[in-house]
Amino acid sequence: MLFLLSGPSGVGKGTVRKALFKKNPHELLYSISATTRKPRRGEVDGRDYFFLNKEQFEKMINDGQMLEYAQYVNSYYGTPKTWIDEQRDQGNDVFMEIEVNGAMQVRAKVPDAILIFLLPPDLMQLRNRLELRGTESDEVINQRLKTAREEILMMTNYDYAVVNDKVDKAVKKVQTIIDAERLKANRL
Ligand code: 5GP
Repeated sequence: MLFLLSGPSGVGKGTVRKALFKKNPHELLYSISATTRKPRRGEVDGRDYFFLNKEQFEKMINDGQMLEYAQYVNSYYGTPKTWIDEQRDQGNDVFMEIEVNGAMQVRAKVPDAILIFLLPPDLMQLRNRLELRGTESDEVINQRLKTAREEILMMTNYDYAVVNDKVDKAVKKVQTIIDAERLKANRL
């Protein structure tokens, strides 16, 4: 099975995903993305992302090695395909956390993927979170908010929507969705 968590940047996808994997009663495997953006402090190559340069990334696109990819705030982000295929062939369940354009590509290519949209309680709160995180400039924050408004309109293409008002509540909801879907597929 392929589970996918998406939603606007700054909504807390990463936090929800990390909390989910801390418990990980589902033995889900996390799909590590590739990106051309520079590592943030504390990020490790091969754990948080595969950090590539533009040429390496574009070669993977041209060689058909990306399940999906998107350009987001001047960087490429994408999901290496081989690893996902291998895991699914071995019967393992995979969990992806990506932005919405990539999610729509997964929807088209993997129709049975289960798509969960994480929603901010409101856009002001999204701005506060981005500002508190303090890793982006005002210009980038404004750009991200504009993207976020457009992304929320795309919510109708998802199987589930979870409001991230409190992280532990959101994690429980995502867990319930995973449990229910695995039960339906006889995988619990
Ligand atoms: P950040 O730079 O904050 O780590 O990520 C920016 C955005 O890119 C986030 O919304 C994140 O979920 C998304 N992202 C991370 N990996 C991928 C990926 O493999 N594909 C796509 N399409 N988006 C990704």
